[in-house]
Amino acid sequence: MDKINTINILLVEDNPGDARLVEVMLKQPNEVHYRLHIVGTLAKALEKVINETFQVAILDMNLPDGVGVANITALRSHAIDLPIVVLSGEANEKFALETVKAGAQDYLVKGQIDEWQLSRALNYAIERKHMQDDIMQLAHYDHLTGLANRSLFQVRIEHAIQNASRRNEFIALLYLDLDNFNPINDALGHDIGDQLLIDVAERLKGFVREVDTVARLGGDEFAIILEGIDYKENVAIVAEKITAGLSEPYHIAENSLFITSSIGIAYYPEHGEDILDIIKNADSAMYQAKRSGRNKYVFYENTFNKRNNNEKINLNSELRRAVTDEEFFLQFQPKIDISTCSITGSEALLRWGHPDHGLICPTKFIPLLEQNGMISKVGNWVLKAACEQHMSWQQAGLPVGKIAVNLSGQQLLQKDFSKSVSNILNETGLSPDMLEVELTESILIQNTKSTMSILDMLKEMGVSIAIDDFGTGYSSFNYLRKFLVDTLKIDRSFIKDVTSKSREAAITSAIIKLAQDLGINVIAEGVENREQLDFLKENNIDEIQGYYFSPPVNADKISNMMAAQKNAA
Ligand code: C2E
Ligand code: CA
Ligand code: CA
Repeated sequence: MDKINTINILLVEDNPGDARLVEVMLKQPNEVHYRLHIVGTLAKALEKVINETFQVAILDMNLPDGVGVANITALRSHAIDLPIVVLSGEANEKFALETVKAGAQDYLVKGQIDEWQLSRALNYAIERKHMQDDIMQLAHYDHLTGLANRSLFQVRIEHAIQNASRRNEFIALLYLDLDNFNPINDALGHDIGDQLLIDVAERLKGFVREVDTVARLGGDEFAIILEGIDYKENVAIVAEKITAGLSEPYHIAENSLFITSSIGIAYYPEHGEDILDIIKNADSAMYQAKRSGRNKYVFYENTFNKRNNNEKINLNSELRRAVTDEEFFLQFQPKIDISTCSITGSEALLRWGHPDHGLICPTKFIPLLEQNGMISKVGNWVLKAACEQHMSWQQAGLPVGKIAVNLSGQQLLQKDFSKSVSNILNETGLSPDMLEVELTESILIQNTKSTMSILDMLKEMGVSIAIDDFGTGYSSFNYLRKFLVDTLKIDRSFIKDVTSKSREAAITSAIIKLAQDLGINVIAEGVENREQLDFLKENNIDEIQGYYFSPPVNADKISNMMAAQKNAA
C-alpha cells in the first residue's frame, strides 16, 4: 500500500450501523486510501488521539459518555491539531454553527451524504485546518522574535479581561519600551538591532510564567499581560525583575551592549473597564516613566490623563454639535473587478468637516461616537445617506453595483437594528440586494445571540455581508462559512507588504485560496501600486480597492467614473 496516500481516520461512533455505513462509503475506489479506526466512546477516542496520529476525526455528537459540542472541546483539548468533521443525526443550522465555533471543520448530517461528499469533506477539512493553522501562525506571531504580535495581543487581553471579570480577579498590563534603542540600531546596523530585540524577547519570556502573554507590539515596544494576580506586590516584583534583568549586558557579535527599559503598568479593572482604556493608561504610565528619567517602572495614576480627558470632553461636545449642524458627509471609494477593471460597487466612508480644524478622519472620531453612544444615530444617518446616494446614481442610469456601509459593533447591539435597516431601505426605495454591510471579525466573534439573529435577518432580507480588515483578528474561516459571509476584505496591512515580504504574500494567497474554496468573494484593500496589483492578479483575487485605482472621493467624482465606464462599454 502506498503510504503517502493513506489517510488515518478516527471514527468516534457508538452506533454500529452508522459506523458500518461510513466504513462502506470510504471503501469505495478512491485516489486516497482511508484507514478507519473505530471507537465507540469519547473516553476511548481521547486515549486513541494521545497515543496515535490521525489526519482527521469523524465525531458523532451523541455518544454514551458525551453529548453535543462538549465532545469537540474534549477532543480538541487532547489533540489541538486534529481536524474534526462532525457527524450528526440532525440537520440543525444553529447547532452546526455551534460545532464549528467550538472548532470543528465541518458538519455532516447522517443519511444526507454520499461517499463522494464524505471523502471531499474529509480532504477539505484536512487542507483547511492546515492552512488555517499556517495563517494563524503567520498572522499572530511576530516574525522576528516569535512572540505574540499586536493582533494576538488584542485577542489575549480580551480573553484575560473576560476571565478576570468572571473570576473576580485582576490583571496587570505592562507596557514596555526600550530606552534609546534607535541610536544602537542606527550605529551598529539592523542585524545587530534585530538580534538585540530577539535577546530582549527571550529574557522577557524568562521573567513571567507560561500562562502570561508577552507580545511585541512593533519596533522596540513590548507588552506583557499578567493574569490571575492575588497581590499587587507581585506585579512590582515582576516589573523590578524585568527592569533589572534587561539592563544586564548583551553579547552580540563581539559587542557588549547595554540597554534599559521604561515600563508603564495599568490594572484591570481598577484603571479602566475596557481594553482601550487599559492600554491607553498603561501607555501613558510608560510615558511618565520615560519623562521621569527612564530605566524604571511607573504605575498608572488618574492624574496622567487629566489633560487628555479635557480634550476628550471638548471633542465630545463638538461631536454633538456636528450631528445637529450636519457637519458629516460621505465619500465613496470604488471597488474594482480585477479582470475587467470595471467598478463593481463602492464603499461609503464617513467624513467630519470641522469648521475650524477641517477634515477629521473617522479613526479619530468614531471611537468617541462609540463611547458616547452616538454611533447608532450617526450610523443610521450614514446608512440612509448612502442608500439615497445610490438611488440617485441609479436614477441617472449609472452602473452602480452595490453600496457598502461600515457598521460598528455597537450598532449590532441595538435590538431593533435590522428593523431600522429595513425602514431605511423602504424609505429610500433601495433594493436590499444592492446593500452590503462591512463588519470586522471581532464583531462576529463577540457575537451574542442577538448579533447572530440580526445578521440572519439582514441575510434574509437580501443584504450582503462583508468581513472587513480580515487577517488582523482571529482569521477564522469557520465563522465565515457559517455566517454565510459574501465577501472578505483582506486587510491593508497585508497588501502593503505583499510584494516585499514573503510572510504577507503567503498569508494573502492562502486567504484568497481558502475563501474561494468556500465560494466567498475576496477583495484586497489598500492596493497602492502596480506590483501589488500584479501579485493579486496572479493569485486570482476577485476585486481590489485602493489608491491605485481611486482614493475615497465625493459622490460627483464617482458619478463621472461610472459614466465614463458606461460610455466605454
Ligand atoms: P475601513 O473600513 O478599513 O476603510 C478603508 C480605509 O482605508 C479608509 O480610511 C480609506 O480611506 C483607506 N484607504 C483606502 N484605500 C487606501 C490605500 O490605497 N492606501 C491607504 N493607505 N489607505 C487607503 P478612512 O476613510 O480614514 O476610514 C477609516 C476607518 O473608519 C474605516 O476603515 C472604517 O473602519 C471606519 N469608518 C469609516 N466610515 C465609517 C462609518 O460610516 N461607520 C463606521 N462604523 N465606521 C466607519
Ligand atoms: Ca470598510
Ligand atoms: Ca478595511
